[in-house]
Amino acid sequence: MRPALWLKLWKAEVAPRCCETAWRACLNLLPVRALLHSRGVATDPLCPRCLAAPETHEHALFFCPFIKQVWFASPLGFRLHEECSVQEFFTEFLGAADCNGIGMFFSILYSVWQARNDLLFSAKQSSVDQILLRASSLRPSSNQLTAPHRHGREHVSSWRRPAAGIFKVNFDASLLQSHEAGFGFIARNKEGEVLAAATSTMGPVLSSVLAEALALRWALGLAKELGFRRIWVETDCLVLYNYWERREGGFSHLETVVKDCRLLLCSFDVFTFTFVRRTGNSVADALAKLAFRLGCLVWIEEAPLEVSSLIQDDVFASVASSL
Ligand SMILES: [Zn+2]
Repeated sequence: MRPALWLKLWKAEVAPRCCETAWRACLNLLPVRALLHSRGVATDPLCPRCLAAPETHEHALFFCPFIKQVWFASPLGFRLHEECSVQEFFTEFLGAADCNGIGMFFSILYSVWQARNDLLFSAKQSSVDQILLRASSLRPSSNQLTAPHRHGREHVSSWRRPAAGIFKVNFDASLLQSHEAGFGFIARNKEGEVLAAATSTMGPVLSSVLAEALALRWALGLAKELGFRRIWVETDCLVLYNYWERREGGFSHLETVVKDCRLLLCSFDVFTFTFVRRTGNSVADALAKLAFRLGCLVWIEEAPLEVSSLIQDDVFASVASSL
């Protein structure tokens, strides 16, 4: 790693022991079982959690199936699909993240490693929530997380800003009596500034839920075309959200579209999907309705005048909710 990145590592806003674990991970110095085994220590090289793969640094910290769930459920929302080395992962993440993001990353990494030791040496199983809770207790300002809480019971009702380096995409679908569908898309950054907006139409669509799924596919395709690599996508359709999270079945006509959407995810390094109430999705909602009048259009770094006051409202709401 470049010297500047090492400096970032040690300056992360997190308990020093988290930085130390991160540093040891980066130099392949943690006593993972595959490493011990290769050095002649009489130990089983397999991961003590899944028993399905050698316990390398990469496997123990990122790619063990259970650990992938931890990263995905975390505020960082990592969807880890490609195997890469710890060093590559660090170089990419440290290069792009701010102090807050790095602190979060290291605290989760430390907590993942501790959970592994608890399992191995005390036969203690930790849940995803327990690991993330321990991680958040290691950070000075854990109440200021800018990313969403994935398993929160109450639903958020106002628009929230993304963390630095993440593009927030809100989308929506609107259905006419004729079943013609209108789609709306708005992408904004940490400051609430518009990166892109778009409208589109499609017709006729069977149900409003299917229209929402088609809008998601359209939004992901657009985000990909625009070159966004780290996105936080938000819907106001609870049925679609629950279906996506596999908490609700029985919508088989969604399956093909949702499968297409999942395929598109390999275009993104960071992907988070959340639900927000309609009040927090008003810009995308207004764009979806405007689509019937405007047709298929894309705006770069601006949005149609009709939604500018709604965009302002979101900025104010996001400031108010972070105070
Ligand atoms: Zn494993």
